[in-house]
Amino acid sequence: MINEQMLKLGQEPSSIRELFAYGLERKAQIGEDKVFDFSLGNPSVPAPDAVSRAIGDLALLPPATIHGYTPAQGAPAPRAAIAANLNERFGTSYNLNDLYLTCGAAASLNICLKALVCPGDEVVVVAPFFPEYRVWIEGNGAKLVIVPARESDFQIDVPALAAVLNENTKAVIINTPNNPVGVVYTPQTLRELAGALRDASEKFGHPIYLMSDEPYRELVYGDNVVTWVPSVYQNTIVCYSWSKSLSMPGERIGYILVPPELEGAREVYAAICGAGRALGFVCAPALFQKVIERCVGEPADVDAYVRNRQLLTSMLDELGYEYIEPQGAFYLWVKALEPDAAAFAEMAKSFELLLVPSDSFGVGGWVRLGYCVSDKVITGSYDAFKALRAQYA
Ligand code: PLP
Repeated sequence: MINEQMLKLGQEPSSIRELFAYGLERKAQIGEDKVFDFSLGNPSVPAPDAVSRAIGDLALLPPATIHGYTPAQGAPAPRAAIAANLNERFGTSYNLNDLYLTCGAAASLNICLKALVCPGDEVVVVAPFFPEYRVWIEGNGAKLVIVPARESDFQIDVPALAAVLNENTKAVIINTPNNPVGVVYTPQTLRELAGALRDASEKFGHPIYLMSDEPYRELVYGDNVVTWVPSVYQNTIVCYSWSKSLSMPGERIGYILVPPELEGAREVYAAICGAGRALGFVCAPALFQKVIERCVGEPADVDAYVRNRQLLTSMLDELGYEYIEPQGAFYLWVKALEPDAAAFAEMAKSFELLLVPSDSFGVGGWVRLGYCVSDKVITGSYDAFKALRAQYA
């Protein structure tokens, strides 16, 4: 007898990963340039030169000084550098003891969930949501509660969210800029959400934590500003990673910030250390802790994503597709041309267009395109999008 829940997860890979694997196979069969793969959120912008230089410099140091275990919460110097960077940008006064370094945002969220969730707890997400939230929430023993986003603009529907809060609600997870819709939550939305969470925490007699999942924080376009969520809601835990902002998702480096203002901050931090230990993470990759110490101030390069967004949206405008204009991240949320998103994505596949159907994001009728691809993939896909449109004329 083995764990049924894990067996099921292993036997049913994520729809995104499955499509990505299909794309690799198809490219091998018919050629790279004939498959238009919009499936995965693997950044197309290269990691900055400063990252390559830091890796090169660090590799020349005596091995004993770079490859060893660090303290479980991360080495002091990188944590201090991250705290200083946050303080400079957000006018806060964090220190290294508020930070716990992780193997990316996936680890940050799992560690937080493991640290917070007790039997019977519920965790709320806003649909459409990143599909792995279901896996992480249920994998850590909580019940997933889904609240649809506001239809008009994909902001959080705060009254609807407030209506599902109850004595079992442990946390709400938000993601801004958002995967998959690209929306950035306005200060007004976040203030209303904070009000609802404060009211419910008081009513039910325990804090409801806000887990702010922020791997796209720096990938924001034009005048849109990403609010520093802990400045709006005291009981916020920030889950961050450099996977997207510095284009190094394979290196697995991120952090959890437990602001000192959070109720019971030291106990929560200790539980996070306990959860990291129980999950066997040991410590975040030592080399990349040092890379971040040197590169924490590096700006994210959003220009290529701005150009890709423009290229893709003007093409889809011309062909008559409907989509949500992204304010950040690098995904386009496009209305499927039939109610069944999976059937539409299958039809797209017949034109070698790989689009992720919306069902695993918790809603029907849409597809997600990751435009973190080379511009050739976008321009090359024109005929395929045209042919797909023609199927529904
Ligand atoms: N959260 C969201 C919304 C994501 O889109 C992703 C990755 O695509 C993650 C978390 C996981 O990021 P990481 O690579 O840092 O684990």
